[in-house]
Amino acid sequence: MSSNCRFCHAPLEQSFCDLGMSPLSNANLRPEQLNKMERFYPLHAYVCNKCCLVQLDLFESPDHIFDDQYAYFSSYSDSWLTHAKSYTEAMAARFSLDSNSHVVEIASNDGYLLQYFVEKGIPVLGVEPAGNVAAAAREKHVPTLEKFFGIDTAEALVSEGKSADLLLGNNVLAHVPYLNDFVAGMKALLKRQGVITMEFPHLLQLMKNNQFDTNYHEHFSYFSYLTVEKVFSKHGLTLFDVEELSTHGGSLRIYGRHTKDDSKPISNSVQVLKDKELDAGLDRPEFFAAFNEQVRETKRQLLEFLIQAKREGKTIVGYGAPAKGNTLLNYCGIRTDFIDYTVDRNPHKQGTWLPGTHIPVIHPDEIARTKPDYILILPWNLKNEIIELLAYVREWGAKFVLPIPQVEIIA
Ligand SMILES: [Zn+2]
Repeated sequence: MSSNCRFCHAPLEQSFCDLGMSPLSNANLRPEQLNKMERFYPLHAYVCNKCCLVQLDLFESPDHIFDDQYAYFSSYSDSWLTHAKSYTEAMAARFSLDSNSHVVEIASNDGYLLQYFVEKGIPVLGVEPAGNVAAAAREKHVPTLEKFFGIDTAEALVSEGKSADLLLGNNVLAHVPYLNDFVAGMKALLKRQGVITMEFPHLLQLMKNNQFDTNYHEHFSYFSYLTVEKVFSKHGLTLFDVEELSTHGGSLRIYGRHTKDDSKPISNSVQVLKDKELDAGLDRPEFFAAFNEQVRETKRQLLEFLIQAKREGKTIVGYGAPAKGNTLLNYCGIRTDFIDYTVDRNPHKQGTWLPGTHIPVIHPDEIARTKPDYILILPWNLKNEIIELLAYVREWGAKFVLPIPQVEIIA
């Protein structure tokens, strides 16, 4: 590999996690595409020896990845909506936001979060490149600019007087191919005493809990606190607080401000988290070396379980069609030879087939009709919500299977 780090430009030499060739994870197939050739790209993450940013190379233009077929609608997860609502309450109180404030969300999706600021009478603007989800946001009365975010978009908004008191992005920082342009845009759009919050999966949790399936082509960067602090600092932004969250298998919420804004002191939780990462070894490239083998062992264990179950004549179906599920299924080579179908509550995904593996995605009602023996939960971060939702499968003795961090059967 001859690429360079997307943050510090050092050459990328150390492999972190090699998942072979995989199609774009959100490229669900329609019936007319099933007999066509599919594009597969290397899914191989590297770690930068200089700044320790774990990253994937960009193989496709962002326009192609996040086009109108990009079918992820945030509002189809109840627990994610609850998370968004409590975030809104907490921020409005902590930073005294009111009808004179301006809240901007980058990658605002279908307005799942900004709708709660609108309810409180706080002016908002969403920035969202995917046309179909942006349209759904406008139906919720969330004004939405259909654009990719970066320095150009930020400067255009500033010139229209649309700077931000609160500038937020949940699960977008990891999806940004041009990281420096993006963070420079945040710096430009932030008011003098404004606050940035960003949430992203925490690299420490990814490694501890073996969440290699969160590697997919749309997910370019994997951050530790130590690395994200370097990125923001380079652009004149200081992180003054951090929280560890349970979302997406363990995320960080960072709070940033202009480095020159001394109205917000740095919280103790910053040093506590940095010490935790330093103790784990996240500042040393050697620490990253063992991850590849850990991932291969997980594949062997999952296949062992599936082969055994099929030998016993059991039926297995999937639940959910998330990006991480496609990484897992493609990497492990799990197709309809193991999984009859998967289901998803999102009607935009029903009637499609998973990319690469060609597993059909259908309506959740199909589970009650076909009464499978095992249900493999692909969005394992939502396992509690899903097990509760599917309580009725116990009527015929079905069991749940969690693939990550290791195979676990829940009766
Ligand atoms: Zn680097």
